[in-house]
Amino acid sequence: MSDDLPPLRDVIRRHGIAAKKSLGQNFLLDLNLTGRIARAAGPLDGVTVVEIGPGPGGLTRALLTEGARRVIAVERDRRAIAALEEIAAHYPGRLTIVAGDALEFDPRPLLDGGPVRIVANLPYNIATALLVAWLTAEPWPPWYDRLVLMFQREVAERIVAPPGSKTYGRLSVLAGWRTQAKILFDVHPSNFVPPPKVTSSVVEFVPRARPLPCNRALLERVSEAAFGQRRKMLRQSLKALGPDPLALLASAGIEPTARAEQIPVEGFVALAQALSAPHP
Ligand code: SAM
Repeated sequence: MSDDLPPLRDVIRRHGIAAKKSLGQNFLLDLNLTGRIARAAGPLDGVTVVEIGPGPGGLTRALLTEGARRVIAVERDRRAIAALEEIAAHYPGRLTIVAGDALEFDPRPLLDGGPVRIVANLPYNIATALLVAWLTAEPWPPWYDRLVLMFQREVAERIVAPPGSKTYGRLSVLAGWRTQAKILFDVHPSNFVPPPKVTSSVVEFVPRARPLPCNRALLERVSEAAFGQRRKMLRQSLKALGPDPLALLASAGIEPTARAEQIPVEGFVALAQALSAPHP
């Protein structure tokens, strides 16, 4: 589905939005692809989409043509704002542009009811920081009903990695604890302008209604200690936590000789629970 707005290449030329590496700018100009991402996040009827880094607005336009009730788009590059204002004029009342830093932006005061979804072709330099902030939202279930995000393939693999795999780590534990995450599809570098060095992947996160109960900060401490020395046995790596690691492992029902990458999310939750219990 296309709109009557000018081609993105013309928009970029007219507004002088040549991609800057420092802003993680790799633009998607192919309407088939932006449409595919928007549909992967759909159906969007009645949904408010929070988009990070709209740039010249390719994905923004797709989200609006695919029927998003409203898009709230936060963009740090001031050069892109005038281009986005043209889109806002084309879809009266449906596009809210926020000129600012996504790392400091809380969309909640701008929301006006209905489901909220975060959809973005993320700037890679801040992608993990943004994801961790969304995954550690409080209260839980969070204010959004789904995340549909583009990452570098290597980061996407770390997010969805199962226990036992080489890429399983802190991000997999956090994402697996609070959400069901899966890679929807890959995007080849040639689809971006300029092309990045690596393949990208679109990842979907559906928040779990009831994640296993545990203190998030303790879960992060446990997985940080365990994966900080991922080749060591847990009886060694968990010494960093303070209390006797053997007692912690025993109350979590985990073998002291196990290594971080063998432990499923439930095991890390059990360790966090053991850490929160009074120590003898
Ligand atoms: N959505 C556009 C697309 O798909 O063509 C652009 C995606 S590009 C990978 C990332 C976008 O994030 C750029 O427009 C960049 O200016 C913006 N950006 C980078 N850092 C940002 C930040 N801290 N806050 C908000 N936007 C940021």
